[in-house]
Amino acid sequence: MQKLSNRLDYFTESVIREMTRVANKYGAVNLSQGFPDFDPPRELIDSLKEAAEKGPHQYEVTWGSKEFREKLAKKQEKFMGISINPDENIVVTCGSTEAMMVAMMSACNPGDKVIVFSPFYENYTADTILAGAEPIYVPLVPPEFNFDREELRRAFEKKPKALVLCNPSNPVGKVFTREELLYISELAKEYDTFVITDEVYEHIVFKPNKHTYLSSLPGMFERTVSCSSLSKTYSITGWRLGYIIASKDVINNCKKVHDFLTVGAAAPLQKAACAGLSLEESYYDELNNIYEKKKKLFLNGLDEIGLKYFEPQGAYYVLVDISEFGWKDDYEFCKWMAKEIGVAAVPGSSFFKENVNNYIRFHFAKKDETLIEAIERLKKLKK
Ligand code: GLN
Repeated sequence: MQKLSNRLDYFTESVIREMTRVANKYGAVNLSQGFPDFDPPRELIDSLKEAAEKGPHQYEVTWGSKEFREKLAKKQEKFMGISINPDENIVVTCGSTEAMMVAMMSACNPGDKVIVFSPFYENYTADTILAGAEPIYVPLVPPEFNFDREELRRAFEKKPKALVLCNPSNPVGKVFTREELLYISELAKEYDTFVITDEVYEHIVFKPNKHTYLSSLPGMFERTVSCSSLSKTYSITGWRLGYIIASKDVINNCKKVHDFLTVGAAAPLQKAACAGLSLEESYYDELNNIYEKKKKLFLNGLDEIGLKYFEPQGAYYVLVDISEFGWKDDYEFCKWMAKEIGVAAVPGSSFFKENVNNYIRFHFAKKDETLIEAIERLKKLKK
């Protein structure tokens, strides 16, 4: 038999998704893969019922239903501060996972280089390699997770085709400042590089930090492929609804890739999700307040236990330092913790290019009682 594709030699299966299976196996509180255990807003549940009754149940326009794109354009124009034509600047995808893959395949040729900050969300390496390109990593250095400007410039000197920017970032919760983004955008323009953003946590930003959309910076709309999703904003990770916003030229290419990858996102779910896109602006403030409180609850618990962590500025993750427990392998530690302590986390090594094995990532997108239960169980770590 011939060997299957070489591409698959360069990345492993997702450790994040694997940890959910480990959590299920041991009945652990699952603070690994980031998704809520609470319901989406009532409006979405009601409109889902209505979509089941009234449809649509057949294919939508491949790049997204008109109503969805119109509502999304209106909402994102308000937040992003740019003008968005629903027919020319949007592709609706199956989650931001597809959006990022489409962006990567639309931008890159085999052999191209792509800058990825490390630590990073594990999909980016796989996306890059599946597109035939090669990731080059620039470290975000703890405790602030800032990047070295000269090091980033040196990465740009290798003439990359694209840079991936996760902002607010997973797993460290960094919210890039406007100054940092201006610096990145100057380099992108100087070296003629695309920037593929993953902004799924755009509405989870802790005060006083502020989210700046890269695509809204001077001269950046043309070279930014903005990817995001409804998963985190409306607590509907299982609906798999994401999107790309970009210039007409970029979107025309993304439409082609998307069409042949998936044809389209689920039609009844696009219909139902319109209820979310139509929510008042106050919904987003409230969502942010909810996560501010959850962050406080969970971090207070970590303080009480005496665990060391990096305080996130946005998103719903926290990296915890496990050096004190003396394990050589964070993956083994996480499996042990799920089984013996009853809480699942993601080993930090799955996010770092560097050889780092003393961090684990928890997420706090859970009901307060789930977080309290997790903290109770984690107290056993110190016993
Ligand atoms: N972004 C989520 C995480 O990092 C997971 C998303 C997914 O598994 N598709 O945990």
